[in-house]
Amino acid sequence: MVIETYSPEETFELGKKIGENAVPGEVYTLIGDLGVGKTVFTQGVAAGLGIKEPVNSPTFTIVQIYEEGRMPFYHFDVYRIGDVEEMEEIGYEDCFYGEGLCLIEWANLIEEILPPFYREIRIEKDLEKGFDYRKITITERGERA
Ligand code: ADP
Ligand code: MG
Repeated sequence: MVIETYSPEETFELGKKIGENAVPGEVYTLIGDLGVGKTVFTQGVAAGLGIKEPVNSPTFTIVQIYEEGRMPFYHFDVYRIGDVEEMEEIGYEDCFYGEGLCLIEWANLIEEILPPFYREIRIEKDLEKGFDYRKITITERGERA
């Protein structure tokens, strides 16, 4: 599925819809270059789950957990991970196979431990279509349980 947005607000709204419709146990990966809108999208997801506290990139921790919404929100940024063993140390399985919504930035670095089914969200610019244009592609990966 491809969605095109023309402003940060539209990207936020798409994330919000996903947060509003989320079912416990869903996993999303988030792919896109720096400054493309991953945080804007993530803030929309959080809003859709009913989270009111500010959500930013979890730069210094691999996972940031928000408990105040309709279900837990597990926001991963695995950019600084050295080895997947670090994921085991933080107990990632409780998040990936838990009762909340998982969003994983830089998931390609932990490909071998991604769950059997997840949805990939790819955000891309196309400067020919304007500075604020974003193409957002949602792809189902793997097999549903
Ligand atoms: P990332 O987390 O991917 O590094 P951010 O979400 O922090 O990126 O920043 C995206 C920047 O792009 C923001 O300054 C935002 O206002 C701007 N922007 C412009 N158009 C859009 C759009 N259509 N969707 C999302 N962000 C947009
Ligand atoms: Mg960001």
